[in-house]
This record gives sequence, structure tokens and C-alpha cells, in this order.
Amino acid sequence: MRLLLKNIGRLATPLSDEEPYRVKVIENAAVLIEDGNFTYVGAEKSLPSAQFDQTHDCQGCLATPGLIDPHTHPVFAATREKEFHLRNTGVSYSEIAASGGGIRSSVRTLRQTPKEILVQLLIKRFDGFLRLGTTTIEAKSGYGLSLEDEIKSLEALQELRNYPLEVVPTFLGAHEIPDEYRNKREAYIELVIDKMIPTVAERNLAEFCDIFVEKNVYNIEEARRILTAAKNAGLKLRLHIDQLTAGRGAELAAELGAVSAEHLDFISDKGIDRMIEAEVVFTLLPGAVFFLGHDKYPPARKIIDRGGVIALATDFNPGSSMTRSLPLMMTLACVFMGMNADEVLAAVTINAAKSLNRDDKLGSIEPGKQADLVLWDAPSHHYIPYHYGENMALKVFKKGKLIDEM
Ligand SMILES: [Zn+2]
Repeated sequence: MRLLLKNIGRLATPLSDEEPYRVKVIENAAVLIEDGNFTYVGAEKSLPSAQFDQTHDCQGCLATPGLIDPHTHPVFAATREKEFHLRNTGVSYSEIAASGGGIRSSVRTLRQTPKEILVQLLIKRFDGFLRLGTTTIEAKSGYGLSLEDEIKSLEALQELRNYPLEVVPTFLGAHEIPDEYRNKREAYIELVIDKMIPTVAERNLAEFCDIFVEKNVYNIEEARRILTAAKNAGLKLRLHIDQLTAGRGAELAAELGAVSAEHLDFISDKGIDRMIEAEVVFTLLPGAVFFLGHDKYPPARKIIDRGGVIALATDFNPGSSMTRSLPLMMTLACVFMGMNADEVLAAVTINAAKSLNRDDKLGSIEPGKQADLVLWDAPSHHYIPYHYGENMALKVFKKGKLIDEM
């Protein structure tokens, strides 16, 4: 099957082997797709003459790679708009948490929800990602916090493995300490290490293991134990670190050879240098800073100037970041983090692919790569973060197929 995309007004893509933030632009471009992969990318006038099974007229639109969201929590049962309303009437987050809200309420409702319902909820949520131009997401468990419910969450994701939205699953059993283990946290850590990780690895339910390292959640020593067990079981590593307070999570991510470390609002200069040396991707989540009404965004400019690779993600979750919009993250990164339009495009495509260890296959429009592509109602990629609260994505191709129902 040979599909020609012609009449692309402008094609903007980072390249796999260039510096991490350079964007190549081709005017009046065409793209040839064969069996789900790009085989020609270039000017339409230089297209080699050949027969095509199908031709799609892009009507002068902008084309970019399909966007990649490398940090999401989509497996939850109930939304938490009531808490948002309470926050906006002056109730503090800690008061909400003390009265059983917050992540504890997500755990309660997820445990009560059968897998079939979770799958139905995921389908609706996945369609929302596709409509906004996202073709691949990383998706975490982490609202089950029991062997049975963590497995149920990952199985719900696995059931959708043939859905157009591509999912990279992550086991996040160490998202919190569940209520029933509050007074015996060591027993929960042993459950994660001795039961959950071996089951997840053996059944191939996740590619990554993640942990929430934060004051009053998991400390560095606990994280080292859990992540070492995960690594030994064959899982790749990513970490939530330095979101609310400064810690030594970045050093740990470097020490353990994690693929990515995430949030990083309070990362130290030393932590930045250690992550760069160890080639850990900096996955930044401005949506969580924004939605919690905080003002300390991660130090993107410093990271870029020192040579770090930044990916941007939505952190989609029912508590602190209820959005699937990567274009909105691009805007926030431009306005609050000093990034420019080239840098934010790379951060949601090739660098996000690096954050998921998929840059050999995803994240750019180049011959040999999987044909994930978005057509935008825009003359250039600068136009995308410039518009906020609007959806400029028009058409989405995944593995060379136009997705018409989403
Ligand atoms: Zn998160």
C-alpha cells in the first residue's frame, strides 16, 4: 500500500540525528508512505515518479510529526471537578486530602470500578488525545495500589493495544502509600518489590516502572530499592522528582540509568549536570504547575543552555492537570519557561520519543520512521503555541492511516 500526501504547504520536523532542538522546514512538500512507514519526505517537485495506490491532498496545510505525550495518568475511574470547585471556594488542598479527597479518592473509586468500565472510559479519553494531534502516549497505572487493582489498570491499557492511539505502559504502584498501609509502609514496599514488579514484568504488562519521590511520599532510599528491583526484572525506569520540594532524585535517576525524570520544578544545578552526563531526558510538566496555581516552573532555559534534552508532557490526571493538550503545554513552556517554537515542537515530538526510548521509530518525519503525522490549520509551526485554548489539529495519520473517527 503506497499513500502519497501531496500539497503540504509546509512540513516542519525535527531530525533524529541533529541537535535536539533544530527543526527542519520544507515548503511545498510531499510525503510518501509505504506499509505504515515514510519512504519519501521532501519537496513535491522532487518526488520520484511512481504509482500510488492512494493520494491525499493536504490543501496547503502544515504537517508535523504526530505529537507524543510522555507522561499521563489516564487510568482513573472518576473525575474530581468537585474538588476543583472546593479549591476555588477557598478550601485548601490539604483540607481536601484530609477529608478523603485527592489521590485517595481516585484510589477508592478505581478499586470499585470493573476493568470493562475502565476500558470504555479509556476509549473516550484516547479519542480526546487523537483529536488534539497526539498519536502516542505514555500511560501509567497508579490509582490501584494493590496487586489486583494495579494489574487491572495495566490490563485495561493492554486491551486497547490495537487502538489507533499508541500507548507505552508504565507501572506506578509506588504512586502513594495506600491508606491501609499507612502504619506499615515497609509492608507495602515489600508488596511492590516481591509481588507487583515480578507479576508486571512476567506478564509483560508494562515497559517502564515509575515512582513518586517526594517529601511524605517515597524517599530516595525506598526509591532506590524499588527501582533497582524493577531494573533487575527488565523494566526501564522513569521517576517523578523535585515537583514540590528539592530532593536528590535527579542524582538517583542518573545513578540508576533512568530513561527519563519528570516534573523537576525544584531541580538543583548539580542534579541538572548529573542528568545530562547520564543522558536522562528532562520531561517537564508545565500543566501541573499552571493548574495548581503555582509559580515555580522548571528551569528549562538553564537545562537547554547546558545541553539537556527536554520533553514536554501534559501529566493528564484528574487532580493536578486535567488536560490532554500538548499544544497548550507548548504555549505554557513558551510563556513561562523561556522556550521558543522550535524547542517546544522538538519537545513534544523527537525528544518525547527519546523520553520513551522510541526515537528510532517515532518523533520525526523521515524515511524509515513510522508514519505518524498531523495536518494543522496553520501556516507554520510557530502558529501552534501562539494559539492557546484552541485546537488547530485537522487530520491525524497513525501508521500511515487517516483516523477518521475520533
Ligand atoms: Zn505524574
